Order: sequence, then structure tokens, then C-alpha cells
Amino acid sequence: MKKIEHIGIAVKDLKAANKLYSKLLNTSPYKIEEVDSENVNTSFFKIGESKIELLEGTSSDSPISKFIEKKGEGVHHIAFEVDDIEKEIKRLTKEGFRMIHERPKDGADNKIIAFLHPKSTSGVLIELCQEKVR
Ligand code: ZN
Repeated sequence: MKKIEHIGIAVKDLKAANKLYSKLLNTSPYKIEEVDSENVNTSFFKIGESKIELLEGTSSDSPISKFIEKKGEGVHHIAFEVDDIEKEIKRLTKEGFRMIHERPKDGADNKIIAFLHPKSTSGVLIELCQEKVR
């Protein structure tokens, strides 16, 4: 794993959260994107080396809507950047971690991603992400 690529925060209202985080971080989101495969709207803020991803569910069966229903708004996941996501999935599976996605899928911000099951990572939802080759 290379670094923490971003931290994902679940929000109820992306527009309101964008305003709030723009004030907090003193910068505007560099990207606002809908991810159909996950039923979420996302926005990304860049602060130095790090990014913050805000996520809003677009339907009641979205993972984000379910998360907020259970736990309320807040930190949703930590994403680590990797060079070779397929290799990393294999390595982690071998180490006994449970993957939610055994094969990488399209994510936001030009990435392919895979999530680990929080039950095997001390309750923290962890995302692996790899930059897509353009
Ligand atoms: Zn993410």
C-alpha cells in the first residue's frame, strides 16, 4: 500500500455538506461525480497530499443511505492507494481478510476500487484504490 488516498465521509445532503466543507477547508470541491454502480453522489476536496470524499446516497438502498440510517453521518471509509489492486486483493485474501469485492470495480475519481469487509478490519471499512490507466 502506498498511502492514504482519501477519507470518505457519509453525508445526508451533499449540497449542504459541500458548502460546509468548502468553508472548513477553505477550498471548493475539485470534482462532483455520480457513481451509478454504488448509487451515490460524491464530491472530492484536495488538501495537500490528501483528499476528502463526501458521499450522499441517491436511493434508500444505497450503501451510504443504509450506513447513515444505522450510524448517522460521519467517517465512512479510509481508502489506501495501491499499485496493483488485483495483486493486493490476492495478498489480503491469503492473509485471511474478507473482501466485499473480490474483483475490482469502477469507482469515483478515475479509480478502480475494492472494499474489505469491516468485520475483518476492526470495524473500519477499508477501500483499496488504483488509478485507472487513461
Ligand atoms: Zn472512497
